[in-house]
Amino acid sequence: MAGVYLHVPFCRQACHYCDFHFSTNTQTVDAMVRSIASEARLRAPHFWGSLHGPVTTLYLGGGTPSLLPPDAMKQLVRGVCDALRLDVSTLAEVTLEANPEDLEDERLDAWLEVGFNRLSVGIQSFDDETLIWMNRAHTGREAEQGILRAHAAGFETITVDLIYGVPTGRQWQDDVERALALPVRHLSAYALTVEPQTALGTRVERGEENPSPDERTVQEYHHLCSVMADRGWSHYETSNWAAPRGDDSHWKAIHNSAYWSGKPYLGLGPGAHGFLAPERYANVSNNPAYIRALEQGALSESRETLSRADRYNEAIMTGLRTAHGIHPEDLHEAHGLRPDVVDPKVWSHALSCGDLVPMEGGRFRIPETQWITGDRVAAALFHVA
Ligand code: SF4
Repeated sequence: MAGVYLHVPFCRQACHYCDFHFSTNTQTVDAMVRSIASEARLRAPHFWGSLHGPVTTLYLGGGTPSLLPPDAMKQLVRGVCDALRLDVSTLAEVTLEANPEDLEDERLDAWLEVGFNRLSVGIQSFDDETLIWMNRAHTGREAEQGILRAHAAGFETITVDLIYGVPTGRQWQDDVERALALPVRHLSAYALTVEPQTALGTRVERGEENPSPDERTVQEYHHLCSVMADRGWSHYETSNWAAPRGDDSHWKAIHNSAYWSGKPYLGLGPGAHGFLAPERYANVSNNPAYIRALEQGALSESRETLSRADRYNEAIMTGLRTAHGIHPEDLHEAHGLRPDVVDPKVWSHALSCGDLVPMEGGRFRIPETQWITGDRVAAALFHVA
């Protein structure tokens, strides 16, 4: 199975912590929609030639794809699906990232008509003082009302994003409670990171602001882990929780789960990445340059062929971010390397100090209590040529 990701690189305003690729100049929306469809046409033959299974998910991220006018949204999805010969109605998961201020009746109806069956809403916090500090374009109340409107309109699968480790007076417990009081089936929570090329990064560098102390960040993460466990949600990836479905399964994200298990995906749009083994590509992160290249029938991208060690290291990193963990024999079969042989000392140390714990069936994972700093454990297990 494979996924298709579309990057819509426009936002109304720049959140002060964000270093994703986006522009607040929306004058090129129409040209961008045409260009993304052109990119899909150019990539289609190679994409289908590299796949060994069906496409099951479509994900519109950004940026803020929900700010596209409904007609542009329809044109974008239709253009890409025609180019890739995809029928949206047959896909298992069709996700739209939306900001709360866009959750209006007219847009919601248009999105359902296009075929979206999952909304990913960037709330980040319900605390208005914190939202102003972040430079978000909505209030906490608007986010709550928007989610209720989306649910009433027919979106049954809604996921929300929150940010913890924020140095404001906000009570994290309140944010968690307000999110869980809504009809949501999935929650992603990320620690605030101070990126250098952002307004927040500049303020921190000038000494005008201090990041949240690590202890508070860790405490907030553990608070969330414990609340979600009490409610029976599955903590299936470091930053992701899925609500129970009523049978023995949970509402896990299909598209993102495919990234974590090394499945192929096509990325379209400026700044998007794609992975079609053994190659990864990255489109230029510049809207005019991206559009110019496609108007001339070309791609503006960089490519790299991943070595056996690169793919092994990625499998370690992504696998250890999941509750499923890693299986040394599976890694050996897929990449010819296994962590207990690559560096037996590091492997034994990780096991003896509890950074890694054995699971049933010969798998190993990072325990939930140490997950927040788990990337360090994964990096120590990398194969360095
Ligand atoms: S809306 Fe999302 S992509 Fe846009 S600036 Fe804010 S966090 Fe970044």
